[in-house]
Amino acid sequence: MREGFDWTIAGVLFAMLLLSASSRGSSEPTSAEALDFVAKAEADLAQDSDYLNHAGWVQATYISTDTNWLLAKANAEVIDRAVRYAKEAARFDHVKVDDVTARKLYLLKQSMVLPASSRSGASQELANIATRLDTDYSTAKFAYNGRTLTLDDMEDILRMSRDPNETRTLWEGWRAVSSPQMKADYARLVELANEGSRELGYADTGVLWRSWYDMPPQAFAAKTDALWTQVKPLYTKLHCYVRAQLSRKYGPTVQPMKGPIRADLLGNMWSQFWGNVYDIVAPKSTSLGYDLTAALRAQGYDAVKIVHTADDWYQSIGFAPEPASFWERSMITRPRDREVVCHASAWDIDNKDDLRVKACFAITADDFYTAHHELGHNMYQRAYQNQPFLFENGANDGFHEAIGDFAGLNALTPDYLKQLGLIDQVPGPEADIPYLLRMALDKVPIIAFAIIVDKWRWGVFSGQITPEHYNDAWWDLVVKYQYLMPPGRRPSNAFDPGAKYHVADNTPYARYFLADIYEFQFYRAACRLAGWKGPLNRCSVYQNKEVGAKIEAMLSLGQSKPWTEALAAFSGEHDIDASAINDYFAPLSVWLDKQNRGRSCER
Ligand SMILES: [Zn+2]
Repeated sequence: MREGFDWTIAGVLFAMLLLSASSRGSSEPTSAEALDFVAKAEADLAQDSDYLNHAGWVQATYISTDTNWLLAKANAEVIDRAVRYAKEAARFDHVKVDDVTARKLYLLKQSMVLPASSRSGASQELANIATRLDTDYSTAKFAYNGRTLTLDDMEDILRMSRDPNETRTLWEGWRAVSSPQMKADYARLVELANEGSRELGYADTGVLWRSWYDMPPQAFAAKTDALWTQVKPLYTKLHCYVRAQLSRKYGPTVQPMKGPIRADLLGNMWSQFWGNVYDIVAPKSTSLGYDLTAALRAQGYDAVKIVHTADDWYQSIGFAPEPASFWERSMITRPRDREVVCHASAWDIDNKDDLRVKACFAITADDFYTAHHELGHNMYQRAYQNQPFLFENGANDGFHEAIGDFAGLNALTPDYLKQLGLIDQVPGPEADIPYLLRMALDKVPIIAFAIIVDKWRWGVFSGQITPEHYNDAWWDLVVKYQYLMPPGRRPSNAFDPGAKYHVADNTPYARYFLADIYEFQFYRAACRLAGWKGPLNRCSVYQNKEVGAKIEAMLSLGQSKPWTEALAAFSGEHDIDASAINDYFAPLSVWLDKQNRGRSCER
């Protein structure tokens, strides 16, 4: 999936690291001690990673009381050790060491998401709250029409329903059962995590999170604003067009022609992907010209063949095929006889060659895309396998997600589908607008959503947003960036941010913002390298070994260098740049202007 914990960070899931009491030496440590410390930490963490990966794999592909027990035990042991090392790394803050050691210390120190302080009882309290938030979220159910619905069930209905009373009931229902009871816990969790972050030398946990990008935390915040400024005009046009189509469909009392869009009408619980309402907003005069899901089925594709097709794509640009063990050990379809975690993910069990995917692929265009996405993680993992353990990671957390999406943009082009024999002919230029519109509905709104999830948390961690204003502040951001409104007045006990998994689970979200931008930047760079002259959306770098070699050069660096250097190794560009999104969607942007003529789109 394009969003969610779907790959393992060199095996160690730093979802939550708890700091136990550490001994602080009174005298300043030496550089020789720093080197010894890093060597020992790296060796131990690498070993832990293998152990945790094996335990995690068996649990995810065979859920039982026993595998849950084994994984929990492995997690606790590994986290405990990783935490001690993270804390100890801070001791060497002022010791002069070589660049490689300095980078490893930097990575060790900020590798955590929710640090607890060394105060007695703090780590246990934080662990209890974090688990409770996760459980509250995962077990929430909503009674509807005589059925008890899980979030998955609700999302399925929301995807298809075109009845605004029903979408409102589900949208409000999920927010009534999932999150109001979380608010007090969340406020306490913020206090505890801030206490831990301050011990590590960060002003608050938001500063810690913003310190992951090889630049000062305040510079990263400014960077996200600058990137949004680049994307906002396109978002505004798309918003304006979609609003008008929704208003036409549902009438102006349900969706007025002016102001925010009603959040429940967009086919997604958080209005982060809008592709599910493509049928409502599709241009009437032209169509995409083919149906990829139908073509896959007609040609007898099964899940294994879809994964082979994705593997072939990477091979075509010069990557080695997935190893034989991948085909023996991966889980590609849902097993009939046991519970598994179906959420697609990519693994590198031994941080070397034991690559796998775990998924329940269906024969759909979505999963055709997802297979390319997941294998992108595997290609990255293998490319950095010769780096020292602490550098075996993406250049930053956005990079890892962006590689597979870059491949997905290629794999969906009609030219490539024709080469595969999935379509008989490449549709003419008239099909570009439907193609781009469908793509934009999923790729553009996520940027607006992703920015608010972490802006809200940055404000909460810094104390700028206090618990009594949690919900108001959330909606201020939703209005400012997504420009949406709730279907009705929000109740006074609402805690709407908690209705999103990544808030309940404490998974940082800026990575999805970055990944969406990198994806297009990578794609444009590859197409330039390939000498492509036509519209960007028709570019496919299938079989281009030169492009593959450049990508490999970026991936093989892992996290050994700042991400700007990794980016430059592939693209020659030294900074993240959202102009590639605007280039890609340029024809759509012109078309949207035409559709929006006479409408007031500005806020
Ligand atoms: Zn992913």
